[in-house]
Formats: sequence, C-alpha cells, structure tokens
Amino acid sequence: MATYDAVVAGAGPAGSTAARLLAERGASVLLLDKHRFPRDKPCGGGVTLRAAAVQDIDLLPVVERTIYGARFSLRLGDSFDRTYAKPLTYMTQRCLLDEHLAEKAAAAGADFHDGEAIREVGGHHDAPLHPDLTIRTSHGTYSARVLIGADGANGVTARASGLSPQFEEAVALEGNLPFTPDIPEDWREYVGIDLGGLAGGYGWVFPKQEHLNLGVGAWKYAGFTLRPKLTELCRRYGFDPSRLENLRGHHLPLRTSRSPIASGPIALVGDAAGLIDPLSGEGIHMAFASGRLAAANAMRYLAGETTSMAGYELSVDAELQPELDISRRLQELFHFAPPPYLALMRRSEKFWLFFCHLIRGELTYIDFVRMIGPLRIALDFFASVAQRRRQARVRALVPLLRGV
Ligand SMILES: Cc1cc2nc3c(=O)[nH]c(=O)nc-3n(C[C@H](O)[C@H](O)[C@H](O)COP(=O)(O)OP(=O)(O)OC[C@H]3O[C@@H](n4cnc5c(N)ncnc54)[C@H](O)[C@@H]3O)c2cc1C
Repeated sequence: MATYDAVVAGAGPAGSTAARLLAERGASVLLLDKHRFPRDKPCGGGVTLRAAAVQDIDLLPVVERTIYGARFSLRLGDSFDRTYAKPLTYMTQRCLLDEHLAEKAAAAGADFHDGEAIREVGGHHDAPLHPDLTIRTSHGTYSARVLIGADGANGVTARASGLSPQFEEAVALEGNLPFTPDIPEDWREYVGIDLGGLAGGYGWVFPKQEHLNLGVGAWKYAGFTLRPKLTELCRRYGFDPSRLENLRGHHLPLRTSRSPIASGPIALVGDAAGLIDPLSGEGIHMAFASGRLAAANAMRYLAGETTSMAGYELSVDAELQPELDISRRLQELFHFAPPPYLALMRRSEKFWLFFCHLIRGELTYIDFVRMIGPLRIALDFFASVAQRRRQARVRALVPLLRGV
C-alpha cells in the first residue's frame, strides 16, 4: 500500500491549490480526481481579480478574455453599461483552468491520478493520537496522515469522515452559445448581469473566446424556474435559446456559519466546505483561499506542531467566514428590494467604484461595513427581517410545490 503525507480528494481549484502548496513545502502528496482530465465542470468560468490575487501562479495562459465592464439590467429590462480602467474579471473555461492548476501541482511534485475516485475513508480520525488514514479508491488503497476533502458540492469525503457541514443550497444552470456573426461585437468585452429576476440569484452572460456562457442561479427551492428564466435571458438579448449547447446544472452549497469543516486529520475545502460567496455565487476565490489555509495547517500538523486540523477550521472562521457572513446579509437585503441597488449602480460613481474595488480585492465586505459605520445595525436588522420574510414565503411555497 502506497503511503503519502497527504491525500487530496478532488482536483478542482481548491484541491489542486492545496496539493501544489503541500508539495512545494516538501510533503508527499497524492491528488485524486474521479474524472479524466481535462474535464469540464458546470461553472461560468469567471475568475475575479480578487480570486486571481490569492494564487501565486500565473493564470494568464488559460485566460480567454479580460473583462473591464458590465452590462446591468433589472428583471430583463433596459440595460446600462459600466466600465472601469483596470481589469475586473478573467474569463476562462474550467476544462482549461483546472488542468492548468493540476499540472502545476504535479510539477511541484504531487502524484496526480485522474480517473480515480475515492470510495471510502478508514482510520480512527477522531482519536487523540491519529494513526494513518486508509483511503480506498476505485483503483487501490493508500495510507495518509492527512486528508483534504476538495471533492465539491456532492463529494464523499465529508460523509466518509463523519463530518456533516450544514449548507443552505442554491442551484445554477448554464449553457454555451457559439459566437456567430449576428452576435454584436461588444459582447466580447462586457459581462451581462441581470439582477432581481431570480430568488437569491441572477442571470449572467460571460464572453469566452469562441462562445458566450449564459447562466442563471437561484435558491434551490426556486430551481424549477431556472430553465424558463434561461430561455427568457437568451431572448432578452436576442439570442436563440435553441442554440444553447452543453446545458448543465449544479449545486452551490453555502456554509452555515460555524458548521464543522475539520475533524482530526481531515479538512474540507472549497465547495465541499460550502465556501461560496452568497451574494455573487463566486466560489473559485474561496476555493483558492481555503486550499491555501488547509495546506498551511496540514504542514503544521505533519510537523507535529498540532494534533489535528482544527486550526484550519479556526483559520477559516477568522479569515474567510466573516466575509461570507456579511455577503449573506447583503444577499438577503439586496433580494428584498433590488431596484434601489441597481439605481445606485447606474447613477453613483462611488457605488460603482466600490464594486470594482471589491471585485479586484482592493476592498472587502468588512471594509464596506466599516465604511457604513453605525448603519451596520440597520443592515443587520433589515437583513434579518428580509430573511424571515423570505423563509415565510418558502414555507408557504414548498407544500404547493410538493403537490405539483
Ligand atoms: C453553474 C455554475 C456557475 C458558476 N460560475 C462561477 C463563476 O463564474 N466564478 C466562480 O468563482 N464560481 C462559479 N461557480 C462556483 C464554482 O464553480 C465552485 O465554487 C468551484 O468549482 C469550487 O471549486 P472546488 O475545487 O471546491 O470544487 P470543484 O470545482 O467542484 O471540484 C471538485 C472535484 O472533485 C472531484 N470529485 C468529486 N468526487 C470525487 C471522488 N469521490 N473522488 C475523487 N474526486 C472527486 C470532481 O470530479 C471535481 O473535479 C459556479 C457554480 C455553478 C454551479
């Protein structure tokens, strides 16, 4: 049985980041993914500048477009464009990005086995002194001192290791529209964002080299609206919905604050831990960031400085979760009454600039709360009112949907 310091389950942005950093620091690492690479994944492929800033490798080789502006609309109504002098978001495809990240992990010394799925995790991972874990896969059995679960929204690591993180769930549906001469050229430069028409989410148009990626996301209970909303989004921009290719949907797990993401020598990162920004639906940023934190804490554990990966959960709670918590409150507030925010985005230079600085990682949600000072109390109050009203609506709606 081959033995490693660390096994990383899943070679998405979180897993490949953790595997590369561990290998760079001298650990022996096995990076496993159940799919053969290159593989695609339902995702808009938008990598914000704040996400790219967390990586210390060059992402430009897999960037298809650099976006400086956005075309906003409210419930598929009139649109307006906003541009910024510096890049806001890189557009890539997940088949390219994830292969690039996995290659970098392998180049740093990690063994990368694609097409090999984790099936079971054995070992007394809750014992005070941890023996090695036994990881059974579709191809064999490995022994490891640390396991990083980066196997995404439906991964097996959480279940297999006895961790049951609590999520609120959103869902998203996306497809690709090949560029044809009838699609206006300016769609190569802007992302389209349609707000206010989906419960808890939004519609998007993301330009790639050869196609536009169109998608819609919402709370899970409103998942049945996604298909018609995607059709409406296409029509709003004059695109033929029947030309959409590769239609795919997937979950977006949103961690409930302080829900468990580490146990003994096992830590969950990225979507497996539910670390998605609720307001934007962006997950690559926190996938990179949690992969980094997991690698740093695993190195301490492997060096015998700590007796478990509990320090990883503490790091996430201290460094990442406060941002997600504020984003969650802003999401409730925004979806309670979207028009004023769209009006601000259109008319207020200050508001637009704040948004640009946030996307570029120059300001954070915490900075926003500091900037509004005592209004923070109003933010918390109205966000919780909005949340209660939404929950009441959902409670009323769910029995009706069950009857459908
Ligand atoms: C439709 C949609 C659009 C999105 N658009 C964006 C966007 O534009 N920008 C953004 O930042 N975020 C976006 N997100 C969110 C983003 O895709 C995720 O947050 C991100 O992929 C999380 O990365 P990860 O590494 O944690 O997990 P994943 O990328 O899901 O990777 C998990 C990996 O684990 C592997 N795996 C699963 N089970 C096993 C197993 N048993 N054994 C071995 N391997 C396994 C899978 O094959 C997969 O490769 C979107 C999500 C959806 C659903």
